[in-house]
Amino acid sequence: MFPPNSTLGIIGGGQLGRMSAIAAARLGFRTHIFSNVSCAPASQVANETTVGSYDNPEAIDRFAKAVDVITFEFENISADGLDRLASLKPVHPSGEILRTSQDRIIEKSFLNQHGIPTTSWLPIYNINDALRAGDTLSFPFLLKTTRLGYDGKGQAIVHNTDELNKIFNTLDPHPLIAEKIVNFNCEISVMVARNKLGQVTTFDVTENQHKNGILDLSFAPARIDIDLQKEAKTLAIHIANSLKLIGILGIEMFIADNGQILINEIAPRPHNSGHWTLDACPINQFEMHVRAVMGLPLPNAIRHSDAVMKNLIGPQGMRVWDSILSTQGLIGHLYGKKIAKSGRKMGHVTKLYPLHTLPGKYGSEYF
Ligand code: AMP
Repeated sequence: MFPPNSTLGIIGGGQLGRMSAIAAARLGFRTHIFSNVSCAPASQVANETTVGSYDNPEAIDRFAKAVDVITFEFENISADGLDRLASLKPVHPSGEILRTSQDRIIEKSFLNQHGIPTTSWLPIYNINDALRAGDTLSFPFLLKTTRLGYDGKGQAIVHNTDELNKIFNTLDPHPLIAEKIVNFNCEISVMVARNKLGQVTTFDVTENQHKNGILDLSFAPARIDIDLQKEAKTLAIHIANSLKLIGILGIEMFIADNGQILINEIAPRPHNSGHWTLDACPINQFEMHVRAVMGLPLPNAIRHSDAVMKNLIGPQGMRVWDSILSTQGLIGHLYGKKIAKSGRKMGHVTKLYPLHTLPGKYGSEYF
């Protein structure tokens, strides 16, 4: 267990690092951010920042020497950079977990080897593999990059052989992965945290709605059967134990129209769909993450309220900020980003409801 005033190093300066740093400060820890830009959202609330590129050995060394333990808030750190960090200080979650989640082929292979269901998929190394996918998965199917995809980027639906060549050549980098399209009733996610002692805890299941490939609304708890909620949490714990996770992990899942839960992807860090926990739980996802990484106990993840969270995206999101500030019962969070570019996550807003009173209606009329 790291004592108060120890320094948590966070790779990445975005909003997930910012909210982790705030949680760490409340527990009496110092934070040091590694970011490739100065004045990043996380740096604005941290004790120190090392500015450097994520593959610069000299900057990595300087950062690692200044901290006691390292975590990350974004996933695209190079394998070399990870190895270098791990040779200097403890890194949680481990580089191995990050490598698994960075690559959809490794990720799905890992999940399936551990008996965890996903949609049917095929690795695509060349155009012949892609043509075979048309036969095996049947059209339409999804073609995705295995790496560097986020918020729905790096993927396309392939409807027929004519489209296949074009999409195969457009998606970058290769290799690719072909996935059978899941006809789902809803998308859910589970945040699961685990510490070195193997204590593990899951937050309540979240239901997620996307707009233009980006998370728009999250509902907690998910408006699904209690048995499905239990099954989703059991799967999450199984994944965390299989990975020997130390830290927090966001797991995105589909509930297929036949009722089966299929895992879409895992993210070994706090997750946008867990932001509601900031306002609806005594210990939120960021604190749980910091506790796990610093070797602190992990009490049960309790929810004291039902919640709906809406992301504030780009200039449209910022336009409603004033009305959020003047509306009773809305809890606003901004991330300190100066320019509201289209598609950029600028903040989020949460509305709480007494336990077990989340209305069953769908859509943006919540706000
Ligand atoms: P991803 O980048 O894999 O998280 O995908 C982004 C979004 O695309 C997901 O949240 C789903 O809405 C959709 N999606 C991804 N994979 C599939 C799939 N195999 N079947 C149906 N929808 C998918």
